[in-house]
Amino acid sequence: MICLALLAPIMALPTLTPAAVASEQGTPCGIYKVSKNEVIAGVKFPKGSYQIYTYDIACNKVLGKKGILETFLKQKDKDPLPKPWRYESVTVGAQGFSRSGVGFRVQLIGSATTSGASPAGNTAPMSAGMKAALDNIAQFPKSKETPQALNYNYGPNAAKDMSNVIEKSAKATMEFFVDFYQETKPYPIFYGSDADLDWVIAEWRKYGYEAVGNELFEQAVSNARRRIGPTSIMIGSESRFPQTPMILLASKGALLRNNLQMNTIHHVVHGIQGRITGDKSLLAGCWGREGAAQFYAMAIMDRNFRTIGGSDYATERREQSKPILSYWTPKTNLLELSASQWLDKLNSVDGNRFGNQMYCNPDPEIGNFGYGSGALLYERLVGEYGHQKVMDWWYEIRSTSDWKVAFEKVFKLNVDDWYKQSAIPYLMKEYQAWK
Ligand SMILES: [Zn+2]
Repeated sequence: MICLALLAPIMALPTLTPAAVASEQGTPCGIYKVSKNEVIAGVKFPKGSYQIYTYDIACNKVLGKKGILETFLKQKDKDPLPKPWRYESVTVGAQGFSRSGVGFRVQLIGSATTSGASPAGNTAPMSAGMKAALDNIAQFPKSKETPQALNYNYGPNAAKDMSNVIEKSAKATMEFFVDFYQETKPYPIFYGSDADLDWVIAEWRKYGYEAVGNELFEQAVSNARRRIGPTSIMIGSESRFPQTPMILLASKGALLRNNLQMNTIHHVVHGIQGRITGDKSLLAGCWGREGAAQFYAMAIMDRNFRTIGGSDYATERREQSKPILSYWTPKTNLLELSASQWLDKLNSVDGNRFGNQMYCNPDPEIGNFGYGSGALLYERLVGEYGHQKVMDWWYEIRSTSDWKVAFEKVFKLNVDDWYKQSAIPYLMKEYQAWK
């Protein structure tokens, strides 16, 4: 199966030029002041100023005395949204509402609790562990080599104004990993709209990608597309093909409502994992693969938010690491897990191995720990051992074909011991401190 990551939330806005804001983040409709702490359909909207962005809906329909937002605010706190409106995100920094392809986003830009310390003006605090990881990341890249090239293939219905953020996000990712085992062939990205499924199948065929194991590629894509729910968006990368090519099929509205920067970087990181592990990234383990794509996406977005948009690390991380009702494992209260329960979780996150393939546990409530908590495991690993060692670990998978063996060889510690001594105490502390 294709690694699919439907990453939630649209996050805080950086400083972009107005033209870029309009194309990448929706149409800016101005500032809306919420004069007291409010709750809409059970979701808190703290007092403060909110920047409003709309997608395919007029500003005056959202704002104003009879606007949709005012209607929502007037409801009782726990009343559900009027149908067919849906709440789109669960962050304090940016939240959205949508109905059948149109919608709007409200982003808190100022409140009593704003620290103002981060360049993005985020309100999320930075823990010592986050800082340790980011300080290490800041030392890279070390060499001045030319980054691996990218090869963009745009479908007939691709929204051209979305290509800017895709290309900048992908380029920023390549620039970050320039020190590590670069490949001479460009990394392929296929981007089209939700109407371009046939196009992408035909394009992949040109690369010789006919079948995925026993499954014809055409079926593999269609099946994957059906599996992930809404057919309006499909984002993935195929680790079983050389170079782990990335596929992005989504309507403009879906791209705007999902975190395009995070999604793009996530899958280019899978491409990098393919190149470093010698196309054995499926043996990197569930959190080894997905946690990395999440962690590096947050870190790379943070470094480049001025050019690519998205959010700073602390804000995105706050969204991605909610301990209760998390996007990843909504049925599990992470604050209630004991150290030994954490150990069990971490040891069940991998799915079964078939040859050179091992995905996450197919039960999302277990496998998704690889994404959410996996990002924090990388944060700890990079903070403790540094980015270079992590890359050494990936490279070692070329020869050992077993991420645990490679881990012990590079970090000089059995992974279970690392869990018990370092990672689990770290997870428990960071989740307790979540705010
Ligand atoms: Zn992934």
